[in-house]
Amino acid sequence: MNKYFDVIVIGGGHAGIEAACAVSKMGLKAGLFTMERYALGRMSCNPAIGGSAKGHLVKEIDALGGVMGIIADNSGIQFRVLNRSKGPAVWATRSQNDRELYSEAALNVVDSCSGVCIVEKSVTDIIIERNITKGVLTKEGEFIGSKAVILCSGTFLNGLMHTGRNQFQGGRFGEASSTGITDSLVKVGFETGRLKTGTPPRLRKNSINWEILEEQPGDENPEPFSFRTDRSRFPFLPQLSCYLTKTNSEVHKILEKGFSDSPLFMGLIKGVGPRYCPSIEDKIVRFSDKPQHHLFLEPEGLDSDLIYLNGFSSSLPAEIQSEALFKIKGLESVEMVRPGYAVEYDYFPPHQVDLTLETKLVAGLYFAGQVNGTSGYEEAAAQGLIAGINAALKIKGEGEFVLKRSEAYIGVLIDDLVTKSTDEPYRMFTSRAEHRLILRQDNSQRRLSGHGYRLGLLSEEEFGYCERDKKIFNFGLEFCNQKKITPGKVNLLMEKNNSPTIEFSESIAKLCKRPEIQLEAILKLLKEEYDPIVDELLNNPDVIVQLEVELKYEGYIDRQYDAVARLERYENYNIPLNLNYLKLKGLSTESREKLIKIKPRSIGQASRISGVTPSDISILLVYLKK
Ligand SMILES: Cc1cc2nc3c(=O)[nH]c(=O)nc-3n(C[C@H](O)[C@H](O)[C@H](O)COP(=O)(O)OP(=O)(O)OC[C@H]3O[C@@H](n4cnc5c(N)ncnc54)[C@H](O)[C@@H]3O)c2cc1C
Repeated sequence: MNKYFDVIVIGGGHAGIEAACAVSKMGLKAGLFTMERYALGRMSCNPAIGGSAKGHLVKEIDALGGVMGIIADNSGIQFRVLNRSKGPAVWATRSQNDRELYSEAALNVVDSCSGVCIVEKSVTDIIIERNITKGVLTKEGEFIGSKAVILCSGTFLNGLMHTGRNQFQGGRFGEASSTGITDSLVKVGFETGRLKTGTPPRLRKNSINWEILEEQPGDENPEPFSFRTDRSRFPFLPQLSCYLTKTNSEVHKILEKGFSDSPLFMGLIKGVGPRYCPSIEDKIVRFSDKPQHHLFLEPEGLDSDLIYLNGFSSSLPAEIQSEALFKIKGLESVEMVRPGYAVEYDYFPPHQVDLTLETKLVAGLYFAGQVNGTSGYEEAAAQGLIAGINAALKIKGEGEFVLKRSEAYIGVLIDDLVTKSTDEPYRMFTSRAEHRLILRQDNSQRRLSGHGYRLGLLSEEEFGYCERDKKIFNFGLEFCNQKKITPGKVNLLMEKNNSPTIEFSESIAKLCKRPEIQLEAILKLLKEEYDPIVDELLNNPDVIVQLEVELKYEGYIDRQYDAVARLERYENYNIPLNLNYLKLKGLSTESREKLIKIKPRSIGQASRISGVTPSDISILLVYLKK
């Protein structure tokens, strides 16, 4: 085995995979340390990728040249675009995945990156000398050197699992916890905290009465996450349905019997849990007025005998979980194969990293994923990608890569973590992005593929594909704005869609602003005119979607770009990292402390720190102008 890598990545989860693949694509050698080779990219909880805001993250990772979208496409057994009835800003792709095939696809992707060496060893120590990382020590006491270390150890640091009063050491079901790393980092001055997450019971498929449950099939024409996925062969796997059921007051009563043995309510669990993804016991207490809660029965895989009961995450005693399940519609004779459990783990409050995800305390040490206080595969993957890119750039002496809040959800995620830190598991929501109308799924390639190509993450051919789409989009936009369509040609379509007919010719752009009129339908009317752009557009349904959104929401989108331009002044107003805040007179104590702790890069970032007031910002501006 190699004794030296350019970058050591600790953890083969969603963050670690992206980090290692990015380092390799950027021409360097990565050692991907993981406890178990075949658990690479294992889905610790629900076998699903994407969904609201998380789907945006996957699309952005893909546009930058990351790998999560490809892995999800290769292992997906159901694909849906959520929120179709709402505005385009919140349309989001979600896939149900075969758990085993997801890991297999992840291993294939990592194996195809020639610069990644998978090392099946547990790391117990990160070696740091004079605040510079030097490498790691394995459980066997072996030293492996590197120029950078990226810590992506997920829920494993001092992981402790709970079911009722039973506690077990472990990072997740069937896997040991990771000890040593937290201590080694606390010794050099890192702050650490404790968080918690949980998972529901797994049920035997053939013990469920499917006939009486409401079916939730995937989309008729499923769409992949990745623009690199071959659509002519997609979907690659047979597609399955999910099913819906719900709890009821009888179920709640049974669960309440277990509250006296609940590690959550007894205070055995010290870590803070995810507010937006509470356990079923938490839901019963917090939303006591709700007589029922929705549950989703999701397949764990094509050949798997297991069903994941989404919405029923619990750490109550196993016998209570099992008893309550029998009272749920469709589960009257269910076999609980494995009870739900909660896991507590160490994390490092993320104000300790900067926007590149390098720690402020130790040069060459990066944190990514669950260790930064986030929850979710997609949030982890996004951070892994950014940490991998920045570690590689630093080694190559090529500056840094930071995405702005107005450029990507990934920018929002990292800015939120660094600027606001977090003391509870952080997950992405569309509401966290103030510019969400311009951060849509459909335009992620246009927004980000240029970065991916420049960084070396997208090949010439892949980028060429994005550029071709962009060109068609630009021509299409010009065409729609200029091409006028006569009443004779369009009025039948108007009538069919209960839209007022027109008296004089109108531009396609104007007609398309009507909510009831679809751009594709108008273009089809022009087919016999043999205009090459019409053919080109009709052969590219993705571009039609993008054009339709841009035309229908033009006013709102323009306003959002104006707002971004106004804020840009402050985002580009840099603050020197070595600014001595103690010298600034008039700052409040809270503000001074936070500015010292977070070390904002710009006035824009400083203004988002909680407790920093407009008057503090004025003081900063006056000082910097001097
Ligand atoms: C029980 C449970 C329930 C969850 N529920 C939810 C949920 O409901 N919603 C949600 O969004 N997220 C949930 N999650 C969280 C989700 O799994 C994580 O957000 C995501 O997997 C984090 O990705 P990651 O790459 O940071 O770490 P992980 O996917 O946890 O991967 C960590 C990797 O690090 C490796 N590793 C750890 N320590 C070492 C070491 N010392 N040496 C070598 N390798 C090491 C492990 O082997 C593993 O490969 C849950 C997790 C668990 C365990």
